[in-house]
Amino acid sequence: MKKTILTGLRPTGNLHLGHYFGACQNYLKMQNEYDFYLEIADVQALTDNFNNPEKVRKNVKEITMDLLSIGLDPKKVNFFIQSKIPEIAELTVFYSNLVTVARLQRNPTVKNEIAQKKELFGNNGESITYGFLGYPVSQAADITAFDGELVPVGDDQLPLLEQCREIVRKFNSIYGTVLKEPEQVLSNITRVKGLDGNEKMGKSLGNAIYLIDDEETIRKKVMGAVTDPNKIKKDDPANPDICMVYYYHNLVNKENLNSVCSECKMGTRGCVACKKELINKMNEFLKPIKEKRKEYEENPDLVDEILKNGTAKAQAKAKEQINKVKHAMKIDY
Ligand code: ATP
Ligand code: MG
Repeated sequence: MKKTILTGLRPTGNLHLGHYFGACQNYLKMQNEYDFYLEIADVQALTDNFNNPEKVRKNVKEITMDLLSIGLDPKKVNFFIQSKIPEIAELTVFYSNLVTVARLQRNPTVKNEIAQKKELFGNNGESITYGFLGYPVSQAADITAFDGELVPVGDDQLPLLEQCREIVRKFNSIYGTVLKEPEQVLSNITRVKGLDGNEKMGKSLGNAIYLIDDEETIRKKVMGAVTDPNKIKKDDPANPDICMVYYYHNLVNKENLNSVCSECKMGTRGCVACKKELINKMNEFLKPIKEKRKEYEENPDLVDEILKNGTAKAQAKAKEQINKVKHAMKIDY
């Protein structure tokens, strides 16, 4: 029996390099070996975009096309839309009895995200919604609805997986062993930094390089990336460890990384030349992805079909699982 993988992305924007190197690279490897469910998490996206339904709607197809364009094979991966699986919402209600409000408030990822969303949730999180605070519970439902055993993610998701395992243990201890404790699968780069030097490149943080960015956008973004502030003149020696340009050379220009590093340290490499080299390498890296995306853009019915088929498979699996859960909870009337 193949193990089951479940992972998800929020349709809040296009894929960026953080997704690609932090999580999606693993999807590409894993699609050949596992039973793979890939959730387009529209319900979760609405927790902090409830006032912007058009954005979520538009990005369902956008992010699906992005994922297909990096080489995920719809014959191997079941792409599905979260809101089309009502069992996830049911499980969320059942699990919400198994987690305290205080535990959710302590979850480091949730805490961090509340602090970043002051406009929505207030300066000190005083306007936090029930839905956003509870999204880790719904994420536990996402995973367990498919009996997910492995979850490829970036490291911002680790506290959410820990929370999921706690819910699973609590469920199993009360109702009998039905659910599996999922394990994370991390990539070798667990968190990709943003153009501004922020620890995380994120859609909501405005510091991302997107896989669909055109050449001019890439040029502007790389030219504006944060570099060593102590390097003033072209031939000043600098510290690559605090330079975002060097950081991205490490992603798309591995073959020349040693020379980029030593020339930067010696002061024989000016920032402008270094940025230009990165722009070229970045464009080379993105070119085949954009070409593949074009095929899907020109054939939108195919994308609808892929989502429809994947969602049908996901519905069947979630039905099996909810029956087991309801039986264990003695609500299988
Ligand atoms: P949002 O800001 O709307 O939450 P996001 O950029 O965080 O968007 P998600 O859809 O929440 O993207 O995350 C999808 C997957 O990509 C998750 O597994 C997450 O861990 C991973 N991921 C997102 N950003 C990064 C990053 N900068 N580095 C590594 N992994 C990342
Ligand atoms: Mg996120």
